Amino acid sequence: MEPEVERSAGGVLFRDIEGQMLACLIQVPTRGGNPSWRLPKGAIEVGETPEDAAIRETREETGCKGEIISNLSDIDYWYTRNENGERIRVQKIVKFYLMRYVSGDIADHDHEAEEVKWLPLDAALKTISYDAEARVLQEAIHSWDAHLYREGLL
Ligand code: ATP
Repeated sequence: MEPEVERSAGGVLFRDIEGQMLACLIQVPTRGGNPSWRLPKGAIEVGETPEDAAIRETREETGCKGEIISNLSDIDYWYTRNENGERIRVQKIVKFYLMRYVSGDIADHDHEAEEVKWLPLDAALKTISYDAEARVLQEAIHSWDAHLYREGLL
């Protein structure tokens, strides 16, 4: 059986509150019951660009609208899904973008997330459940500094 490929896109959403930079993480339910803290992301729909999907999924899952600052690295993992009793191997490729908070409130997140939090960057790095997403967050921190430098703000 050929493996399937699923493509998603997501955002590392940053916000400055009183000089402290915060990142937005969502908690999603897991089968095992352990809380899983993640970056917001979701499937790229037909006819949608990865950038539009990343903005839409970030808005739906966090309640907040972001504006893309730059591309980050893709992540890539495998998982197995059951379909009509058949086990299907899925390769998942997720494109992430660094985003600046524009508007909205985490109280307005959708049902995909059980909880949404703004966390200081060091706490976010420790909280995030997947190493690959932590690496993307680390890359976003460097990209944010580069962005501030380019804008003459650093
Ligand atoms: P999407 O949010 O893109 O719509 P989904 O919610 O349908 O996706 P995934 O988040 O890809 O599904 O999760 C599918 C499986 O892969 C789950 O078992 C999940 O725990 C696991 N998974 C999710 N992210 C990662 C990761 N970064 N590394 C390894 N496994 C992951």
